[in-house]
Amino acid sequence: MGIRITDDCINCEACEPECPNNAIYAPEEAWKMSDGTTVADDNEHEAVSDDYFYIVTDKCTECIGFHEEPQCAAVCPVDCCIPDEENVESESELMAKKDKLHA
Ligand code: SF4
Repeated sequence: MGIRITDDCINCEACEPECPNNAIYAPEEAWKMSDGTTVADDNEHEAVSDDYFYIVTDKCTECIGFHEEPQCAAVCPVDCCIPDEENVESESELMAKKDKLHA
């Protein structure tokens, strides 16, 4: 499953540079599939959160193919990067997503 950021986030920015998929954005920041990926989709999407850093589910692979564990969760000082129970994906689905993001 993907990872999500809860409202315990203190906007410290520690997670954002750690993501291999550029799936993490600052509050109010628009996101694009093409940011940090090989996907040729430059469409801008509205920020998912205006208050806290957020993770784009379509870009989160739980770091599969890059790291042993989700890097955002590993560095978060308040442990607010947690499994997103509403977006459960198998390891093979996450690997396929990773291959699609980095073709
Ligand atoms: Fe990015 Fe990995 Fe965190 Fe997903 S789990 S948002 S891929 S750092």
